[in-house]
Amino acid sequence: MRRFRWTLRAQMLAWLLLCVGTLATVFASLVWHEQRSFTAMREGGDALVFDVLEQGLEARAKGLAGELAIAVAPGMAGVVPGRLEAQLAERMQHAGLRYVRVVDAAGGLLGERGVVPVPGDDGHLVEARAPVNHRGQVLGEVQLGLSTDEARAAARAWGEATEVRFASARESHLQGVLGALAIILVFGLIGLYSMRRYVLEPIRALAHAAAAVEAGRYAEAQHLKAGEDEIGDLSRIFSRMTAAVARQEREIRRIAYTDPLTGLGNRLALGTSLESRLLTLQASSGELALLFIDLDDIKRVNDTLGHPAGDELLVEAATRIRKACDAMALEGAEIARFGGDEFVVLFPAEATRPCAEALAARILAAIGAPLRVHDRDLVISASIGITVFPDDASSASQLIKNADMAMYQAKAAGKGCFRFYSRTIDEQFERRVRLENDLRGAWERGEMSLAFQPVFDLVDGRVVGAEALLRWAHPELGLVPPSVFIGIAEESGQVEALGHRVLETALRAAAAWPSAPDGRAPFVAVNVSPRQLALGNLPETVEALLAQSGLNPHRLHLELTETAILRDEAQARVAFTRLRALGVGIWLDDFGTGFSGLSHLRRVPVDGVKIDRSFITDLLRDPNDLALTTGVIAMSHSLGVTVVAEGIENVGQHDMLRERGCPLGQGFHLGHPLPPGEIERLFG
Ligand code: C2E
Ligand code: CA
Ligand code: CA
Repeated sequence: MRRFRWTLRAQMLAWLLLCVGTLATVFASLVWHEQRSFTAMREGGDALVFDVLEQGLEARAKGLAGELAIAVAPGMAGVVPGRLEAQLAERMQHAGLRYVRVVDAAGGLLGERGVVPVPGDDGHLVEARAPVNHRGQVLGEVQLGLSTDEARAAARAWGEATEVRFASARESHLQGVLGALAIILVFGLIGLYSMRRYVLEPIRALAHAAAAVEAGRYAEAQHLKAGEDEIGDLSRIFSRMTAAVARQEREIRRIAYTDPLTGLGNRLALGTSLESRLLTLQASSGELALLFIDLDDIKRVNDTLGHPAGDELLVEAATRIRKACDAMALEGAEIARFGGDEFVVLFPAEATRPCAEALAARILAAIGAPLRVHDRDLVISASIGITVFPDDASSASQLIKNADMAMYQAKAAGKGCFRFYSRTIDEQFERRVRLENDLRGAWERGEMSLAFQPVFDLVDGRVVGAEALLRWAHPELGLVPPSVFIGIAEESGQVEALGHRVLETALRAAAAWPSAPDGRAPFVAVNVSPRQLALGNLPETVEALLAQSGLNPHRLHLELTETAILRDEAQARVAFTRLRALGVGIWLDDFGTGFSGLSHLRRVPVDGVKIDRSFITDLLRDPNDLALTTGVIAMSHSLGVTVVAEGIENVGQHDMLRERGCPLGQGFHLGHPLPPGEIERLFG
């Protein structure tokens, strides 16, 4: 039920009713009073008329009685005999006379005519008596009664005539009052109508328009009817204001929903449009494909060529994606920049999967074509994850999550390819989430330990140090390899704390290692994550831990990958300089897999490089790997840095490296990673 509201209209109506009601009451009470005073007046008038007539009757009765007394006196005195009866009969002929009687002085009846009333009956009579005198002597009395009926009738006639006159006066009076009331009512209604038409309706239209503006339906509020009065002015101003607000909102939306770099819709635009598309598609049971495109290795371009180059690359990639979409002539396709180097394409289709596959292939080919950025020829690639609505998920967020997971799958499959989302990916993702959670507090729960892999002098075959490698014994999953959990620790921000523990533990362990018989003290090599370097306080931390453990700084090597240096070359240079000043050695890990080759060696001060295992594996089969390895060894000699060959698994590799002059080596062929207690025995 709608709640009653004390609206203007209701108030006006109430006012009108109140006015009419009050007037009607006033008029009614006037009429009532008038009626009452007339009744009182009439009653008084009747009595007065009757009294006047009665007085006249009384006088007449007296006169008649006197006349009769004189007339009968001679007879009664015996002067004229026997005439009384005749005289009485004659008298009775007088109009209105009811009775006549004559009594003697003693009260004895002498003669009587007419009907004498019995005592107690007023009989509508006026009675009179007159003494009968003769020569000074009272002979008797004449008594008579005159009827008042006539007087009464006359008074009544007067009253009726007055009544008639008054009734007509009252009627015309009432007509006047009712007429006045009707006029007031008509004026009131006209007032109400005008109020409604010229005030209430425009105000209601304004209120409606304001509500429409509030709900964002600006078009409804821009063409209000406006008269020439003040409310019309208000309506016109309101319309103009609405137009301005609408313009502003369009502009704000444009800014909020557009990626300024590429001009594509941004994440917000994508989310909004995806939600509404899904609603429509749900109703029409249509399908939609969502492609999540991530450019591979754009970070490296940013790091090596600078951000403007990276931006140029993104714009070019956006153009290429758009062209690929246009070439497919997909109806209703939408492209958005989802994040840094991530793009999303979505389109509704009937044969969604083949279409998505064709589009993905086109986009990969387009992005893979060589491009020139800042006078450098570059070839980049992209990884694409594809998901389909409604097969894979029904919500926008889940679809994006699916496509993102599929994209990671494409990256894991070697980048530059596309993958469709499948439930298996989901399981992998869940496993990853679980590992991330389990990793928290794993060190505190004692699930983590260090293993030390010996590093050998390839010339004399002696152990010269060891690399600390982190081990995680998961209570349910068993040993989880660092290749799995280090990445998770890095992405979930746990690697900083974990790395600190590794450093602390490794330094403490190495401090207790015995020196070799020739007096050489073994070094410990500790892997440092790029994120630890990015913290900015690595030198201070290392210095403090060295002091705490008492380890000679010369016995510590930190292993960092090229990625760590590329992130912020200036910061790396400062940190390395400080660390080297302490006496700590810096080794470049996984050397050869990087993007920029040997150029960094000249700009960033390092003490050694570790040739990546992938080169050593194929050393005997792949001449390219042999050439690179030989080149690295030769160059490091000339730069005065040392070289460690990683992953030596057989005697052939070992011999080859020794032959080429590689000073240090490490690998299963020489020694597996060992628990802390066992590694010590190799040094003694
Ligand atoms: P890495 O720094 O390249 O470490 C060498 C890896 O190669 C170790 O694997 C080692 O066990 C393995 N390896 C050594 N010799 C051979 C061989 O002859 N053949 C083969 N196939 N493998 C060999 P692990 O221990 O699984 O570590 C993998 C990676 O995890 C490490 O690669 C390193 O990048 C990372 N990592 C390990 N511990 C730490 C740590 O404490 N902190 C950080 N930030 N990263 C760590
Ligand atoms: Ca390493
Ligand atoms: Ca390595």
